Amino acid sequence: MNYKNLKEEDKQVYEIIEKEKIRRYNTLEMIPSENHTSPAVLEALSSILNDKYAEGYPKKRYYGGNEHIDEIEELCQKRARDLFGVPYVNVQGYSGSPANHAVYMATVNPGDKVMGMDLMSGGHLTHGWKVNFSGKYYDSVFYGVDEDTHLIDYEKVREIAQREKPKLILCGATAYPRVIDFKKFAEIADEVGAYLCADISHISGLVVSGAHLSPIPYVDVVTTTTHKTLRGPRGALIMVTDKGLKKDKKLGEKINKAVFPGLQGGPHEHTIAGIAVCLKKAAEPQFSDYGKQIVKNCKVLSEELIALGFNLVSGGTDNHLIVVDLRNKGISGSNAQSILEKSNIIVNKNTVPFDTASPFNPSGIRLGTPALTTRNMKEEEMKIVASLISLALEGEDVKNKVTSLCEKFPLWN
Ligand SMILES: *Cc1c(COP(=O)(O)O)cnc(C)c1O
Repeated sequence: MNYKNLKEEDKQVYEIIEKEKIRRYNTLEMIPSENHTSPAVLEALSSILNDKYAEGYPKKRYYGGNEHIDEIEELCQKRARDLFGVPYVNVQGYSGSPANHAVYMATVNPGDKVMGMDLMSGGHLTHGWKVNFSGKYYDSVFYGVDEDTHLIDYEKVREIAQREKPKLILCGATAYPRVIDFKKFAEIADEVGAYLCADISHISGLVVSGAHLSPIPYVDVVTTTTHKTLRGPRGALIMVTDKGLKKDKKLGEKINKAVFPGLQGGPHEHTIAGIAVCLKKAAEPQFSDYGKQIVKNCKVLSEELIALGFNLVSGGTDNHLIVVDLRNKGISGSNAQSILEKSNIIVNKNTVPFDTASPFNPSGIRLGTPALTTRNMKEEEMKIVASLISLALEGEDVKNKVTSLCEKFPLWN
């Protein structure tokens, strides 16, 4: 990126961005919800589309001058519908959390019962957690994972659903290393007459690559962030499937109304342009290889970590992320996070299922391979990364080794 004007007009901000650029260059970004966005997406994000107010939807705006804004939003919608194979999409959600909020608003009323995966098992705050809107304004109940296998126990999910009769069920997770069986969730939701929303924020890039089962044939609504494995701007898509429209032919309109005027004002059209760019990229055959490589890399990383004596939640991974239970290593999640950070390896502390430690200092770390795969790293590098993680946690300073690995896999901006 050319920051010529910024450099002239605001050196302070410019220099902070430059420092962040250098940090990014020289670190292994292993937080599984993060990625490196392409220059084309960043250019769209910094475009003049930022300046326009466009409350409403294409051809039904509350402001004039929106002919090209309509064009960009319709293009983005079309690319999303084509890529995911859905009849309906809203591309205006500011991010994943407001997108999920819109689904609640469109499908249930405040006080209604909703069911999601609990945070400790890998669920997201917006799936009913008590400090979040979803737990404050809705009557939330939870399912989790099995204590021994760390897998979702679908029979338990069925039992809870039949007992609690939720009106909306959310599936999808933020720290679950295994495949989610959307078909089983759909059977359960159908049995109790609940709406089913799949939140594929973490795995949407894998879904479009064919590296994870797609929820589209089974669920009513799908939400996803666009900045995780999909590699786009911070934003969200809310999609209604054929099944969802069959259940309620007005569901699409209800989602639209929930987003605007229900929750948001003017859409961020520069973000929508960036999402359009990332969706074009995600439809190319190379992206399918990319998604599959993320999973292959993660598999190798998990096998190497196991060989080095680490305990992985559920014993491994099927997707882009790993949760390491550090209790056998006598080190806490936050200590591990900061030790690794000193060696330029960036992960995040995370609870493990049935964690007895506090969420501020949980027993595990969560790490993944999307951003390393974006840098073009492959299986061989994953073996090196696993050994660097292990050495760092044993007290060795591996920063120089990390930076020289990073130099071999440069970033473009
Ligand atoms: C990241 C994530 C979100 C929220 O996205 P934000 O953009 O951070 O609001 C919602 N659900 C899941 C499962 C996520 O992983």
